[in-house]
Amino acid sequence: MYHVPRRYAILGDVHANLVALEAVLADCREQGVTNYACVGDLVGYNAQPIPCLDRIRELCGPNVVVGNHDFVCSRPDPLLGFHPLAKAVVLWTREQLDSERAEYLRLLPETRTVETFMMVHATLDDPLSWGYVFDKLEAEVSFSYQMAPVCFYGHSHVPTAFEKAGIVRGGLYRNLLITPGRKYLINVGSVGQPRDGDPRAAYAIYDLAANTVELRRVPYDVAAAQKLIRDAGLPEQAAARLAQGR
Ligand code: ZN
Repeated sequence: MYHVPRRYAILGDVHANLVALEAVLADCREQGVTNYACVGDLVGYNAQPIPCLDRIRELCGPNVVVGNHDFVCSRPDPLLGFHPLAKAVVLWTREQLDSERAEYLRLLPETRTVETFMMVHATLDDPLSWGYVFDKLEAEVSFSYQMAPVCFYGHSHVPTAFEKAGIVRGGLYRNLLITPGRKYLINVGSVGQPRDGDPRAAYAIYDLAANTVELRRVPYDVAAAQKLIRDAGLPEQAAARLAQGR
């Protein structure tokens, strides 16, 4: 049997931005992606939660973990410690979700192992505390709970990678070669709301045969996504920040 090398697209923080998601999926097809996985936050911030949820569910199957927005949008609990902008969109998103889709989000796992890699939205040490991994110290804590050589994560919307080979090193990345015996904690950036100053959609391709991780940046029609936010009556700041990548 002809063996197709597996090339995983790891998508994260789609945040209901269907315009960005469709541009990313077109790039995936051009790049010969064979499998899809998602590190969470399908909804929130942008105006198309339903089609984004449906696309991710269809493409990724069981390879999806829960994000903090997925968590709060699918439960009626009061929103504590949420930024007013995020909170406004969470309340709107709750109204959009029917009970079947809300249950899909509610049942997403905190972590998941796919083939040889792990996925989590925030940190492995305490996934539902939604801590951020920006620096080596924060990465070190998550590494101590990482059994697989590679773990992908999201949440900060900043594509950063950490490598543990005795010490932990890390920073922004474009291409990584996964070296046996080392551990990697890799943020795939955000499809729907990048925050590293580059407004293009971000995702990563993990080639299991070549042992490489490539960060992809994909331009999309930001004005179209902004119009959808404004037409839905969501906060102007949610639209404005897309152009800045912040
Ligand atoms: Zn997010």
